[in-house]
Amino acid sequence: MTTKQILDNEDLSRENLVTLLEAQGEDMTLLFKKSAEIKKKYIGNKVWFRGLIEFSNVCGKNCLYCGIRKGNKNLKRYNLSDEEIIAAAKFARDNKYGSIALQSGEIESNHFASRIENLLLKIKELSNGELGITLSVGEQEPEVYKRWFEAGAHRYLLRIEATNQELYRKIHPNDLKHNFKRRIDCLQSLQDIGYQAGTGVMIGLPFQTMDDLAGDLIFMKDFDIDMCGMGPYIEHADTPLTITSGKLLPLDERFDLTLKMIAILRIMMKDINIVAATALQAIDPMGREKAVRIGANIIMPNITPGMYRDSYKLYDNKPCTDDSAEDCQSCLEARVNLADSEVVYGEWGDTAHYAKRRLRAKG
Ligand code: SAM
Ligand code: SF4
Repeated sequence: MTTKQILDNEDLSRENLVTLLEAQGEDMTLLFKKSAEIKKKYIGNKVWFRGLIEFSNVCGKNCLYCGIRKGNKNLKRYNLSDEEIIAAAKFARDNKYGSIALQSGEIESNHFASRIENLLLKIKELSNGELGITLSVGEQEPEVYKRWFEAGAHRYLLRIEATNQELYRKIHPNDLKHNFKRRIDCLQSLQDIGYQAGTGVMIGLPFQTMDDLAGDLIFMKDFDIDMCGMGPYIEHADTPLTITSGKLLPLDERFDLTLKMIAILRIMMKDINIVAATALQAIDPMGREKAVRIGANIIMPNITPGMYRDSYKLYDNKPCTDDSAEDCQSCLEARVNLADSEVVYGEWGDTAHYAKRRLRAKG
């Protein structure tokens, strides 16, 4: 089938997904035109902010691609105080961001679980329940996810990273701490507890094929996710994957492939939230607005206090590490306007998808 036929019939078999992922030139333009139309119809020209607080780079894991992995000794570790996190949440409240996202390395401990629970309660209180809260702090026991849900977190982002299990194994140490099945179980319990559950993958990983990416898209559809955050894989000089990976796709191709993944997912899952990942901007200064044009509807302005940003370096050339939260907001707003979209303030920006899924679950 031609790209046009695939798009006209929305015939998204695995084979056709690969054709779309390989689209170039006019075919790629056709794909982006279709996904932009679908976004306009189902979401409108709107973008919601999630103020991102990268509150600690301390991590107990050793994912082979990640700059803040435990084994990276060339990094100053930090952990924001509760007061600093609360101050960042107040900034989001005062600037009418509908939501914040709390993200960190992965720590599984009673102390960590209680700390997050207390922070959630405090943030809910300071905003009269008005700030939506996304968590992205990795794999935890279901009881912990439940406590946090009850304390006020209602969205959780846990990227599956790669759904081909062989590829997953190649980009993680082969031990119990980095277990594909546990990651799936975690996603399942998040969904069961009632979170808006988000996942995503890295695009342009070493050893990754177009068929793997097609499989990733099918996984997201089958899992019936509410949100997706996916972005290009970018090397970090101090990680094992960079040293062993050999030849990778050039960055501009990883960039286009990420836009194609976003566009196809928007066609497959019309009413979910899709993040315009910061990593896109590490490759192209206009990366996030390009993603907004073709299907993304969520942007995560960084509101972490500036002095810590340089230490949350997941990959090389991470953008905006020396901006303040105010700089970040005005820059992003201008950029979103450039993409002919409008930032919605003071709303959570939950998806119609989630509401429908919950109704179905209640039967
Ligand atoms: N520790 C939590 C976890 O792993 O789910 C949340 C924080 S982790 C830093 C957030 C995401 O960063 C990961 O899910 C991964 O996809 C992404 N990431 C890490 N290293 C990356 C790299 N080199 N290039 C692109 N994305 C990367
Ligand atoms: Fe830790 Fe998350 Fe990085 Fe893995 S991806 S090393 S869990 S911060």
